[in-house]
Amino acid sequence: MSGRGGGRGAYYRSKYGGGGRGGPRPPADQSGGTPRYTGHIRKAEDDAPGWSPGPRRGSPAQLASELERIDGKGYGAYHDIAGGWDFPGFTLWVDRVQGDPYASPSRCRVVVPAGTAGLPSHLLRPRPRRLACADFLARRFGEAVAAAGGDVRAAAVGWAGAKGGEMGVDVPGQYVLERTAVQVGHEGHVEARFTVALPAAGRSVLGRWARSVLTEALPRYVNAALRHASLDAAALAAHADAAEDAAAARAALPALGLVAFVADGAVLPRADGASQAPMPAAWAVLSRAPESQAVVLTLPHAGRVRGLGIRRGVTLIVGGGFHGKSTLLQALEGGVYDRIPGDGRELVVTDPRAVKIRAEDGRRVCGVDISPFIGHLPRGRGTRAFLSADASGSTSQAANIQEAVEAGATALLIDEDTSATNFMIRDARMRALVSRGKEPITPFVEHVRRLAACGVSTVMVIGGSGDYFGVADTVLCMEEYEVRDVTEQAKRIATEFAAAEGGAGREEGRPPREWSAPPPRRLAGLAAAASGAPRLKLKTRAKGSLTLDDEEVDLSAVEQLVEISQTRAVGESLRWAARMLPQGPALTLPQMLDRLDAEMDQEGLDAITHSGEPAGDLARPRRFEIAAAINRWRSAHLEQCTGS
Ligand code: ADP
Ligand code: MG
Repeated sequence: MSGRGGGRGAYYRSKYGGGGRGGPRPPADQSGGTPRYTGHIRKAEDDAPGWSPGPRRGSPAQLASELERIDGKGYGAYHDIAGGWDFPGFTLWVDRVQGDPYASPSRCRVVVPAGTAGLPSHLLRPRPRRLACADFLARRFGEAVAAAGGDVRAAAVGWAGAKGGEMGVDVPGQYVLERTAVQVGHEGHVEARFTVALPAAGRSVLGRWARSVLTEALPRYVNAALRHASLDAAALAAHADAAEDAAAARAALPALGLVAFVADGAVLPRADGASQAPMPAAWAVLSRAPESQAVVLTLPHAGRVRGLGIRRGVTLIVGGGFHGKSTLLQALEGGVYDRIPGDGRELVVTDPRAVKIRAEDGRRVCGVDISPFIGHLPRGRGTRAFLSADASGSTSQAANIQEAVEAGATALLIDEDTSATNFMIRDARMRALVSRGKEPITPFVEHVRRLAACGVSTVMVIGGSGDYFGVADTVLCMEEYEVRDVTEQAKRIATEFAAAEGGAGREEGRPPREWSAPPPRRLAGLAAAASGAPRLKLKTRAKGSLTLDDEEVDLSAVEQLVEISQTRAVGESLRWAARMLPQGPALTLPQMLDRLDAEMDQEGLDAITHSGEPAGDLARPRRFEIAAAINRWRSAHLEQCTGS
């Protein structure tokens, strides 16, 4: 069997010589992008197992005869098909061959040259169109495989029975994200990545079956899904148009002083709790902006679109229970990403730096200054560099805000359903009983205006407390799923109550510590177990959970992660951060996030993977979700940068 112990790079090096990062690669125009970045980050890890594609091997007929030749041999003989195979109209790259039938399936790519793919230039730029085009192709490629049953694994009957054979394509959900399943180059070539469980009987090669998968079925899928001539051109154009419109709407927000926009006619509710599909239009109340809060955007394809403009500053969403408040907020949370046509929320767009904030008791917190919110803890514990392996509701919510701002958030999205009550408010009676001196918590209501003044807006769902009326710029009321503007009434009520309470509507004077941006931290070290490992073993089982060397990083409360493929890329980002560690000078966390974003902007998601080996199951996460994972990674020691 292959040299698994020595890593894949070692295998390729020993087999084909040289190898490593300087080894053969397909020509730049076919490899899915620009040459690899060789800045100092990568140079400093020369000992990392490199990856390079195998050599070009020959025709599909030669691949077929190679598979015939190894039929019945030991499973390791599959390594003989690694490399590139020139089919008519595309190249198949067998990048990594699994070591045995039970290992994770083999990784392959097909590269279709621009001329064969035939994508018209209007799909290649601007960037949102090209990404949406790739996203569309990924969906069709996955469908082609599924429709033909190519994704069905043969289950072995007995030890020697036939097993494997299925192809895996990372099929997207409701969101149009930058992803590696299918990528479209600037000049229009297409690279699709997938896995194949190379079929076996017992531990021997089923070469004839593999031949039919790779040389007969695969060309059909490629033909059906990766060539413009075979696709529904109108649907593809609509996919690109929707993404471009959403991007344009998002780009229009700052100049209009908005944090979000909800187009009239949007379908916000989902079909049911388990599904992201829209509620059937016959049941849903379509969104419609009240005249006083309506704005009109002019978009490249949809033209003039009227909708609700949620302004910067402090916005409350109030209303009775079950009237659609959380549904609106959830639509805003996802509005940082583009959505597919038919989702219903295509033109619900949000400041891309908006971060959902919630209480998350039990999370770990490391070195975060939460002192504006929580002044002191029992037994003299300080909160300027708060440390907890098991934070409470209020301390976790405070940390979530400070960390989001540290990472660059310019808007906070908060739902009272998932907030700690004592973090949000302290009413007059409670203040009368427990004086400010005894209560460590300064509730969010006392800081929200100062945050807004510092450029961090808040949109929050509040059904149970009128204390926020006095600090809100806008108050929207959900009534029977319709938005009403109740700002004036809310202001009047706030004034009347403040007068009645003799000016004690809020706490006397200023909060003990006025809110200010937290000092940036840096990743100062990893626990011995993590840093000693040459390569952290990454596993992603669900969207909300990844493990690094068997240590779980719990992301279940990080609600703006929308696909498991993003979670995988988040895991790769943590490994990237670990590789950066031995190198000085240390970057602050925000600088590290800038760097990651820059690498992904320049080179795509392959830039952040450990070996550079093409993975077909990554989608791009935002910096906030990457930061959230670093902050929840118990092995990672974060400390404040002093004097920088
Ligand atoms: P709230 O947060 O105000 O208590 P939710 O947003 O949780 O209310 O919504 C309550 C229910 O109403 C959910 O089942 C949701 O699917 C449904 N719903 C929300 N918005 C709409 C709408 N615009 N049209 C129809 N049903 C809706
Ligand atoms: Mg709710």
